[in-house]
Amino acid sequence: MEDKLKAAVAPMRRECVQTQVGNVAIGGGAPIVVQSMTNTDTVDVKATVQQVKALAEAGSELVRITVNTKQAAAAVASIREQLDGLGCGVPLVGDFHYNGHQLLKDYPECAEALAKYRINPGNVGFGGKRDSRYSAMIEIALRYQKPVRIGVNWGSLDQALMARLMDENGASAKPRSADAVMREALVLSALEGAERAQALGMSPQDIILSCKVSGVQDLIAVYRELAQRCVYPLHLGLTEAGMGHKGVVASTAAMSVLLNEGIGDTIRVSLTPKPGGDRTEEVVVAQQILQALELRAFTPQVTACPGCGRTTSTLFQELADDIQGFLRQQMPEWRRLYPGVESLSVAVMGCIVNGPGESKQADIGISLPGSGENPAAPVFEDGEKTITLRGEGIAEAFKERLEQYVERRYGKST
Ligand code: SF4
Repeated sequence: MEDKLKAAVAPMRRECVQTQVGNVAIGGGAPIVVQSMTNTDTVDVKATVQQVKALAEAGSELVRITVNTKQAAAAVASIREQLDGLGCGVPLVGDFHYNGHQLLKDYPECAEALAKYRINPGNVGFGGKRDSRYSAMIEIALRYQKPVRIGVNWGSLDQALMARLMDENGASAKPRSADAVMREALVLSALEGAERAQALGMSPQDIILSCKVSGVQDLIAVYRELAQRCVYPLHLGLTEAGMGHKGVVASTAAMSVLLNEGIGDTIRVSLTPKPGGDRTEEVVVAQQILQALELRAFTPQVTACPGCGRTTSTLFQELADDIQGFLRQQMPEWRRLYPGVESLSVAVMGCIVNGPGESKQADIGISLPGSGENPAAPVFEDGEKTITLRGEGIAEAFKERLEQYVERRYGKST
């Protein structure tokens, strides 16, 4: 019954063609792909390899790297080689601006090592140069049989196109707002870019589009429009989302609306890390967005109550945090040993008010004692109370219980 209800509210994915990027399928009914981008200097092969590997291990299914100079282009093949040597086969995407046509031409090993090229039509040059450079990049993609992302960005919008649309709008009997014209310019820039690529011989299956802006409502409006006007897979993301809570919330707000309407085939969360911060955070946030919307499952989810005056000790917060960390830490191995474990649900609750009820709903849950309660923590597995934990070692005992449950339920022998 519950499954039927879920199926009834599950978003219908927008229909589009499917693009193959290395061994990863995007669109055409494939699971929504999580991707990320490095912030290392690509010339620094060691640092870039390390970060790509960390992003891939965190769950990034594609990783984009900047290819902005001759030295960066020269480093790409060796980055690929070293990753392969480490057993990390994540496809690499090259991010090109201004000089991509030249770099791809001069460094064929780079063109070959990348699984996809990102081209920004607003950043390939002006006038006649723009067309010839754009064509050169598409021709190289065709030669090496690589798909492209035509990635328009609000911050580098094709100014000639914008001016043309502004003029047309000014002459119109019913002029639209400047914002509406800007949004149309973004959409048109991507669509015209795709049209030119197809005119040069590229198949629609090798084209992915994106139109990134930094405003939540703008992003929603732009992608709704784009989704209606093309059959290409769409790369979704709020550009320059920002730092900390602001970046996480803005990205989640914008992408959730669209994903829930079936729009978006691959996502990237563009968070600004704190200096020295962990770049893999953007991957975790992207996964959490997809998992919260029940579009994909990556990691067992911990349901924890917020705590209140009934939880006077820090035991409850510590346990919730400990279990979440423990699950993430176990996942690389569990994923291999226990297929399906990513759908596991765990509850860590603070007291008797909602504790037993919520714990029974989870696959495995624990209800800690609130203030004034008996110092006992009942554990529920598949809705049944199986044991009551007491004393100092509750956290360790619950983790042990959790491991046994996972092995029993998801182990190969079952
Ligand atoms: S379950 Fe108990 S501790 Fe948690 S928020 Fe509710 S009343 Fe407070």
